[in-house]
Amino acid sequence: MFCAIVAGEAPAAVVTETDEVIAFLDVRPMSEGHTLVVPKRHAARLADLPAEDGARMFALGHRLARAARDGGLRADAVNLVVNDGRAAFQTVDHVHLHVIPRFAGDKRAVLRRFLRRKPRTSDGAAALLRDALPD
Ligand SMILES: [Zn+2]
Repeated sequence: MFCAIVAGEAPAAVVTETDEVIAFLDVRPMSEGHTLVVPKRHAARLADLPAEDGARMFALGHRLARAARDGGLRADAVNLVVNDGRAAFQTVDHVHLHVIPRFAGDKRAVLRRFLRRKPRTSDGAAALLRDALPD
């Protein structure tokens, strides 16, 4: 699934990418601008992931968190989450880091979206994040 996006064979609202990692909007977002950071080299679980890919994944998540706060999304806070394994809610067997912008007072909305993950359109969030990405 994510390998198909990496290969350009499946559509995604891409925020940014390098040779090693790609960031795109989650199609079932828990908040506006919910982004997934994905190492391009396939690894199903953290245990399979080379340490340098983990470091690159987190570094991009770190920059996206800043973009979510400082850019047009104007997030108040950010969750960075890796679900590693089925019992931890991992649903796609390709390691990914969730970057979830959070807004004051959004607890109920986020929990509702967490329980019922529905597809939503992106409302330009990818561009807002991209434009605010720090170097
Ligand atoms: Zn894959």
